[in-house]
Amino acid sequence: VWANCLRVIKANIGEQSYRTWFMPIMPVHLQNNVLIIQVPSTYFYEFLEEHYVEELKRAIHQELGPDGRLEYSIVVDQGNSQNQPRTLNLPTARKAAGPADVATPAAALASGPMSSSARHVAGAAAAPASSATMLRNPFEASKAIDRNYLHSQLNGSYTFENYIEGDCNRLARSAGLAVANKPGTTSFNPLMVYGGVGLGKTHLVQAIGNHIKSSNSDKFVLYVSAEKFTNQFIESLRANAVQDFANFYLLVDILILDDVQFLSGKDKTQEMFFHIFNHLHQAGKQIVMTSDRPPRDLVGLEDRLLSRFKWGLTADLQSPDFETRMAIIQNKMQQDGIDIPPQVVEYLAHSVNTNVRELEGVLISLVAQSSLNRREIDLEMAKQALRHIIEEVEAEVNIDFIQKTCAEYFSVPLDLLKAKTRKKEVVTARQVAMYFAKEHTSHSLKSIGHHFGGRDHSTVIHSVQTVSDLIDSDKNFRSQIVELRKKFAGR
Ligand code: ADP
Ligand code: MG
Repeated sequence: VWANCLRVIKANIGEQSYRTWFMPIMPVHLQNNVLIIQVPSTYFYEFLEEHYVEELKRAIHQELGPDGRLEYSIVVDQGNSQNQPRTLNLPTARKAAGPADVATPAAALASGPMSSSARHVAGAAAAPASSATMLRNPFEASKAIDRNYLHSQLNGSYTFENYIEGDCNRLARSAGLAVANKPGTTSFNPLMVYGGVGLGKTHLVQAIGNHIKSSNSDKFVLYVSAEKFTNQFIESLRANAVQDFANFYLLVDILILDDVQFLSGKDKTQEMFFHIFNHLHQAGKQIVMTSDRPPRDLVGLEDRLLSRFKWGLTADLQSPDFETRMAIIQNKMQQDGIDIPPQVVEYLAHSVNTNVRELEGVLISLVAQSSLNRREIDLEMAKQALRHIIEEVEAEVNIDFIQKTCAEYFSVPLDLLKAKTRKKEVVTARQVAMYFAKEHTSHSLKSIGHHFGGRDHSTVIHSVQTVSDLIDSDKNFRSQIVELRKKFAGR
């Protein structure tokens, strides 16, 4: 009978898929129109149910008539192959009623190795043949893996609609949209988004998840931070339930792993992630990751894992420019019904150029102050609120920093730069440092001279003049200055 089924199936699907997913199946039993087939793992069973349920149904009905049913027996993944029959009726196998008591493996694993909820996640496959942990009722397994009850851990307020587009995020955003529209089928798999703190990584990847969830409700989207992933994994080790952990993640259709840099140096967790990554990727599932630095700088991450990241697309997020910051503030105001005069918005967008989180933080504190003091938000209040941030900025660009940066840039020893030598290379570096000290600090000429080995103010004036002249006459020199200025601007 099974051979006939296979013929029907083979005619309907590709050769490759047939070999991968149907050749390994063994027919084990046929009685009363119920055919039991043995599959190698829970994951295998999941995949068949997900992708080939129609083909299987058609074949069974053709061979056994309309009452024909199929049941799976799953080989236990560890140790000797032990069969645990799992009676799942096509095609309603996953429609079993009743809420699962398991949202994430953490919830399951937290309750200990012997708890029945931990077993639910694994289903029959991971349960050793010892009676203590066997499922009492095989239907419980299908209940627990009903994806409708798996929680995606997404925050619905992060969407594409409220993710402002700018030069800083254009590539990442459009790649994210492409992935959200066609998860698993674009060449952006995995999609890796990287960028500094507060630049919108989490927002973007959550928007991807929310978008997929709203348009493909049958897909299991899971958002998890790498930190939480690690903690869950460690907990599963402790609870002797690593297989449960893995099985849970193999159910995922779209896996979003946030802040992957957290896995640095955690070899065991990386190994597990590598395993999950490969399985999901092979099955055409979408993987989305974020990192606070480019992949090449992820020290402590295994090369084989890093090389996987290159299979897809890596896109970075930059700091937003002034216009984008304006748009972000205006969008936020509209969203939260806040009213702020235009010149204050402009002032904020101008002054807070570090990251979006900081920008939002200032807005929130302004709103709070305004309601506390029953006062409209005005420029004075904004300046007051920003005082500590601006002071920090000024404190950061001090003469020491300028001297150090210039010495490094021109490859001269810092102590010579501050001393009285007249060596030519040192002289240029020193003059440039003085030039920037005048431009970026409020020190007097006399004070600047004092910081450079006790020169008088006319020496400083001469240096600044020399540098200005060189900027006008020497193109190479000018571009060096431009490059250096970037190191001081925005600090
Ligand atoms: P990250 O994960 O990179 O540290 P988040 O995604 O948490 O940053 O973003 C910080 C805050 O800034 C969030 O509240 C987020 O909604 C907001 N944000 C970041 N980028 C944008 C953007 N382009 N448009 C609107 N809000 C943004
Ligand atoms: Mg984040």
